[in-house]
Amino acid sequence: MAILPGATLGILGGGQLGRMFAMAAKRMGYRVVVLDPSEDSPCGQIADYVLQASYTDEKALGELAALSDVLTYEFENVDAAAVEFLESLGKPVHPSSRVLRITQDRILEKTFARNRGIPVTAFAPVGTVSELESAMLKVGFPAYLKTSRGGYDGKGQVRIENAEEGRKAFAEFSGRDLILERRVPFEKEMSIVASRADGGAFVAYPPSENIHVRNILDISIYPARVAETTLDAARKIARAVAEGLGIVGTFCVELFVLADGSLLLNEIAPRPHNSGHATIDACLCSQFEQQVRAVCGLPLGSTELLRCAAMINLVGTGEGDRLLGLEELLRHPDVALHLYGKMRAPRGRKMGHFTVLADAADAAERRARELQKILQWV
Ligand code: AMP
Repeated sequence: MAILPGATLGILGGGQLGRMFAMAAKRMGYRVVVLDPSEDSPCGQIADYVLQASYTDEKALGELAALSDVLTYEFENVDAAAVEFLESLGKPVHPSSRVLRITQDRILEKTFARNRGIPVTAFAPVGTVSELESAMLKVGFPAYLKTSRGGYDGKGQVRIENAEEGRKAFAEFSGRDLILERRVPFEKEMSIVASRADGGAFVAYPPSENIHVRNILDISIYPARVAETTLDAARKIARAVAEGLGIVGTFCVELFVLADGSLLLNEIAPRPHNSGHATIDACLCSQFEQQVRAVCGLPLGSTELLRCAAMINLVGTGEGDRLLGLEELLRHPDVALHLYGKMRAPRGRKMGHFTVLADAADAAERRARELQKILQWV
């Protein structure tokens, strides 16, 4: 049975993804309750009810479940045990704890993909010194040694060129579960945001092209400028992931595009994704509204791109908390600005984004790059 407007949606995690989910939910007439450890979280500023507590606080999780008709989470580093606990209380949680367990662990995630016939780079789990040695022989160089769990925006990963660097990096990670991955000589990075409903209905947005700076997403361009066959392959991978995991909700698959146009799966995010933010302004139904619809059992919305788009992340530099150039940015009629209500802008923190709409992807990217230059943290 569908969970209709007026009901309360519970969310674990109060960052910007939770905030934009809450905004979509509220626009559709739902109430929102968020659990987050921090005071004044981006989602807490929007939600109807805020529980400030740790993700492992069972009393707070119980309150969250009691207040909610359905629950979701906004990032994959929440404790899977917390989601299992919510499920044990009998409240629906989407995506399920099983999906979370697989997608928050790079080894389980890549093993899942490989077993479903989805291509991934060569990889091997590394728990001990002898596993490291055999992994380096199997995977080869250059490679990345990454923590299997808990990494994001390039945190918890080291690029290694040879066995000596591998041993050094292994010693520095001391005691954590690791994965060694062969570096992919990609031409482009691309991602596809899609949603699956409980009954199996599936929709996917057009894939976007993503460029990272210092491992943090800098710009996403819609649609990706790749061959039609590559776009089709991305849709097939997204569908295989959705069906293989039995996911309910919005998710994202990050992909590497090789020189011949073929794809390798990099990561699965079981939630709306930074590279999908342009869907707020460029589509009738954003990735966040799609998430609301999927978790509530409503029909999924349109994923049609109404205009081409480029989204630029506004990332803190540590030089100050005030963004200079906003007024000049807002003079441009094709720009939509989104700020996340964060008061401090340390280096690397995602503070907001803006989206530029245009009639072609090239023009959107060009304009976005011009406008990016006028903004500065002071
Ligand atoms: P991840 O957190 O695994 O998505 O890594 C962050 C970024 O690091 C990716 O978006 C890539 O730009 C780069 N990266 C990570 N793993 C690889 C790999 N195996 N080959 C090439 N680039 C990678």
